[in-house]
Amino acid sequence: METIRNPRVMQQTVREYLQRGHSIGFVPTMGALHDGHMSLVQRCREENDVSVVSIFVNPIQFGPSEDFNRYPRDTEDDVAKLAEAGVDILFMPGVEEMYPEGFATYVEVEHLSDRLCGRFRPGHFRGVATVVTKLLNIVRPARAYFGRKDYQQALIIRQLVRDLDIDTETVVCPTVREPDGLAMSSRNTYLSPRERKAAAVIYKALCRAKEEVLSANGTFAEARVLMEGCLSAEPLVDEVEYASVFDPETLEDICSRDVTIYDKGTVLLAAAVRIGRARLIDNELVDITGRQGSRRS
Ligand code: AMP
Repeated sequence: METIRNPRVMQQTVREYLQRGHSIGFVPTMGALHDGHMSLVQRCREENDVSVVSIFVNPIQFGPSEDFNRYPRDTEDDVAKLAEAGVDILFMPGVEEMYPEGFATYVEVEHLSDRLCGRFRPGHFRGVATVVTKLLNIVRPARAYFGRKDYQQALIIRQLVRDLDIDTETVVCPTVREPDGLAMSSRNTYLSPRERKAAAVIYKALCRAKEEVLSANGTFAEARVLMEGCLSAEPLVDEVEYASVFDPETLEDICSRDVTIYDKGTVLLAAAVRIGRARLIDNELVDITGRQGSRRS
């Protein structure tokens, strides 16, 4: 595996691969790699001639009181995992290379960035959209791989790729979970053993809500109540930022809508909670087309 730190060198290397007719697959990450990341890497390897993974903890997507400085970093372990997985190129730029003095251009995806996590992390998705645009311009992949765990992020990236005519297919891969259902995340390392056990409540709450929206008499409003109740009942959950039912395309909160006349076919159940030092998110996309609707909400 070749490691490249300089964006210009990365661009030159990519140019050579493209001239030889190779397809490039790309997985952007912030490192501290776990099996969720590695599932994207594996898919990327299967579907492309050359696989590129980036590790860059992007300062502009963290708020001033967020965890940029203490975000887990374990380069040695990451390099070993990527080499073992057969990745061709690791792109690991420094902050000064990505944001040199005088940097002044940002990408903002309107509307989608203001909802869910955007309400609690002002400027976060502007930072994400900007860095992903830069990375896609540097790596010029045929396909880029993202996790459904960060559903809103994947949706925003899909939108910016479309809006800015970027010649990359965005591939969204399933969420990889721990045996108790907790979605894998680099931030899970912030949890104490007790908190780690308690964090399984997030997926449990999503599953209860899923049962509700799929049941014959279920309503979106009740699904939200169940989720919030389940999360709040866990003493180690310090705050529920949001837990509700959303339109999977617009991210509008639809918990007050009547499920029997909702015509999108799929709903997004999503939650964000704080447990100790960690802010954790998770979601489930639920196909409700087979549901036997009868009661009105
Ligand atoms: P991060 O390093 O947190 O920026 O994540 C890099 C990529 O890995 C993003 O596209 C995430 O959505 C994805 N990812 C993170 N956790 C998981 C997971 N548990 N399952 C699948 N993909 C994930």
